[in-house]
Amino acid sequence: MNREVDHIEATRSCRDAKQAGQEPRDKLSATQEYQVDLPRIERAVREILLAVGEDPDREGLRETPARVARMYAELFRGLRLDPRRHLKKVFTEKYDEIVVVKDISFESVCEHHLMPFMGKAHIAYLPGGKVVGLSKLARVVEDVSRRPQVQERMTEVIADLLIEELDAKGVAVVVEAIHTCMTVRGIRKPGAICVTSALRGAFRTNPSTRAEVMTLIYNGRQ
Ligand SMILES: [Zn+2]
Repeated sequence: MNREVDHIEATRSCRDAKQAGQEPRDKLSATQEYQVDLPRIERAVREILLAVGEDPDREGLRETPARVARMYAELFRGLRLDPRRHLKKVFTEKYDEIVVVKDISFESVCEHHLMPFMGKAHIAYLPGGKVVGLSKLARVVEDVSRRPQVQERMTEVIADLLIEELDAKGVAVVVEAIHTCMTVRGIRKPGAICVTSALRGAFRTNPSTRAEVMTLIYNGRQ
């Protein structure tokens, strides 16, 4: 199948399924200095267990509220981090070809259902005189992924902060993910993959540069 058509259709069906086209663009704020209120989560989880007819005091569930509270603190720790910190150390380089890092695995949480979505992010940029350590791109994905969000916004947030912090001539971010809110509930379509992309700078405006970066990202894949 034509990869581009496949990609566009996947993107559209993802949008339709999640009605996320109207999400406001997330501009990353500075590091927020607050701690997760673990006791509050514990009380809420206990309420959920009571609401579904469970006995939160039975042996198997006794530690669950505390465990879930710690889990949320971990899954949402990106809310207290500023991913830009990874992009402060850049190197001046004359290299002016596309840099691509593929298959950066991540786990995030869908803000509509608070269920995990996970997959891979592929990042490409066209340096404008500055390059950054390749592992830093993976660290940016890690920080941004650890918050409640929709995949579309996550993709755009990563692209925006890379083009801003690196003064890159172009940035392309492609995210492929499986959403457990689609696989274990609701429409229940295991294996459905949502693909989203965000293109900035030359990758957006120059068709041949865009074709080149998409070939690099999808090279060797279906
Ligand atoms: Zn969802």
